[in-house]
Amino acid sequence: MANGSTIPISYHSPVTLLPGVGRVRAAAYARLGITTLGDLLSHYPRAYENRGDLRLLADARPDGKSALLLTVATEPRVVRLRSHKSFLKFRAFDESASCEVVYFNQDYLKSQFPIGSTFRFYGKVERQGNRLSLASPVAEPWLPSAPPPPFAPIYPLTEGISQKQIAKDIATAMQLLAVENVDPLPAELRARRNLCTLAFAQRNIHQPTDRAALSIARRRLVFDEFFYFSLGASMAQKRDQTHGAPVCDQNDLSSFLSRLPYRLTGAQARAVEEIRADMNADIPMSRILVGDVGCGKTVGAAAAICIAVQSGRQAALMAPTEILARQHYADLAPLFASLGYACELLIGATTAAEKRRIKAALASSDPARRLPIVIGTHALLSDGVEFAAPGLVVTDEQHRFGARQRALLAEKNTHAHLLVMSATPIPRSLALVLYGELAISKIDEMPPGRQRVDTFAVDESYRARLNAFIAKQVAEGGQAYVVCPSIEEQEEPDECPLSELLEPIEYKEEKPPLKAAVTYAKELQAALPSLSVAFLHGKMKSAEKDAVMQEFSEGRIQVLVSTTVIEVGVNVPNACLMIVENAERFGLSQLHQLRGRVGRGTRKSYCILVAGSQGERSRARLDIMRTTYDGYAIAEQDLLQRGPGDFLASSPTGAVRQSGGLTFRLANTAEDTALLSDATADARALLNDDPELTRHPVLCQRVTDLFSIDAGLIS
Ligand code: ADP
Ligand code: MG
Repeated sequence: MANGSTIPISYHSPVTLLPGVGRVRAAAYARLGITTLGDLLSHYPRAYENRGDLRLLADARPDGKSALLLTVATEPRVVRLRSHKSFLKFRAFDESASCEVVYFNQDYLKSQFPIGSTFRFYGKVERQGNRLSLASPVAEPWLPSAPPPPFAPIYPLTEGISQKQIAKDIATAMQLLAVENVDPLPAELRARRNLCTLAFAQRNIHQPTDRAALSIARRRLVFDEFFYFSLGASMAQKRDQTHGAPVCDQNDLSSFLSRLPYRLTGAQARAVEEIRADMNADIPMSRILVGDVGCGKTVGAAAAICIAVQSGRQAALMAPTEILARQHYADLAPLFASLGYACELLIGATTAAEKRRIKAALASSDPARRLPIVIGTHALLSDGVEFAAPGLVVTDEQHRFGARQRALLAEKNTHAHLLVMSATPIPRSLALVLYGELAISKIDEMPPGRQRVDTFAVDESYRARLNAFIAKQVAEGGQAYVVCPSIEEQEEPDECPLSELLEPIEYKEEKPPLKAAVTYAKELQAALPSLSVAFLHGKMKSAEKDAVMQEFSEGRIQVLVSTTVIEVGVNVPNACLMIVENAERFGLSQLHQLRGRVGRGTRKSYCILVAGSQGERSRARLDIMRTTYDGYAIAEQDLLQRGPGDFLASSPTGAVRQSGGLTFRLANTAEDTALLSDATADARALLNDDPELTRHPVLCQRVTDLFSIDAGLIS
């Protein structure tokens, strides 16, 4: 390996260190989120081809690929076609039959298949009458004494990288890192929990010798994922406990509460009490306000903002979309104004002159001219936004922000109190790992008078009735949302879920045609000519989006066809019908969020899930939506079915910056619950005993590698 320098190779070393990985391939790797060798090693196969299940030609699978042991019978022959195309073909046989093997435009393979040699081929056998053929199979030389490994990894790919290259790069990275020598897990722990070595695990997750080895490897890596996450999260939380936040003790909320058009529910009042107590101290608050869609979290944020402002500090409220930021602004600015507090909106679409003015007002050293409250999007994180007297930062729909944005937010506000709101209910099994001992306020009670949103799952055959139903709801004065998957989603590869790792099967559900918002809005307008139908999607200009949203909330648009840009937070109480097209494409928690857009007013509301696909799986999923109305129960189901991706993105305060190595790639928090509790318990015990991990330097290094824990980031 050409590594002339003395820089030690570590998990942090760039992939460009690998022979043959230049700028182009590095860029391709970057698209997969891989920049370091560590990232590469934790780029696990999403599935495995079972090439160990050898079949006879006569018994080849009719519907998929088969592994076959065939002997070459004829000299490979190149057939040239016009337009520089060619194919290579030869015959091969086993004891049951013979077939023609064909490769396209790969003349150079000619010398690789001498007559009489035996290969393990892996490909799909095509049958035409009595003739069998095998097009472009994978071929591996067969030595009975040393057969090639039975499972071939299938990696998530991107353009510019092949399975072969990635497998080779991973093998090289493993050699370079010489994992044999360093296992960060204490030997005692490994023995007690019956875990294999890291070296074994890494080798066998990428290149399993057999099914049992794969399972042992996976168990160790899943344990590691939980263990490191738990260690890192606990360590980061400790650092949270430093002092230096502004004490916000002017917390009499009676005048604020008297201006609300309703009384707080018991759960809201409890949450507000908890926030009030936190902000009354000089330890920065790190509180998460969770609760089902529509439970009324916003008022908790407004109360916190009041406390900060009354105490002479500034407050920022950040939302993940412009639509939501504007809506908060429209709802809250008048409330704050009635209390005498100025509030401005800062989003990408704000004009440059306005931005300058707002920034100057935020940074003003003169308390009389200083702007106390700003509501916005991640534009609030941009350079030049400085607070003269920061007191509180609130993020709404926290899980929608990227890890980088959350880190930036924490970085910019080292001494502010932080309140995070999320409607993605965190299932209990995960809350433990994610939030540990962080403060959670849960609003577990709905405002009075809410009605259940009746939910139905239908298929295409209901289209006419569905349109009639829209017309009826609108005729009665209601409004409807129709949500379509976003157009980009069509490009998403249909990946075989990793959960099927140990049961390598090719899973493909027939993909229904997707309804794209713009086209569908036209169709629908044509079908319902007397209604006013409009569309909304993320790619529209901000001003256009606002105009449409505004018209919808004023009732001038009756049917809004949209992508999921309306998923979070949008509040138009007159809307009473939510139709989700291609509902099988959405996660359950997402469907629950969408359903939460209706049933916000006094109208009887409905959610209709239109499934294009009749698959068993999608039917079962939509059934959960029909029968379950509790966001937590739905989130648990989502976790079971889709893994923790969405939840993990919502690491609590943004204080923990996740690097590529720190996502649950293999772990399934719903199924691996025993490992989860073992790992969490072990991490806690270890930290009790050795809080800074000084006696476990290798482990400490690994945790730091995974979580870029940076003292400056967390106040
Ligand atoms: P979410 O928790 O989903 O963010 P919101 O804060 O948007 O929910 O509240 C949803 C709706 O419920 C809003 O229209 C809000 O005015 C209303 N609301 C909130 N709290 C109460 C309450 N205590 N009584 C009646 N209505 C309430
Ligand atoms: Mg909300």
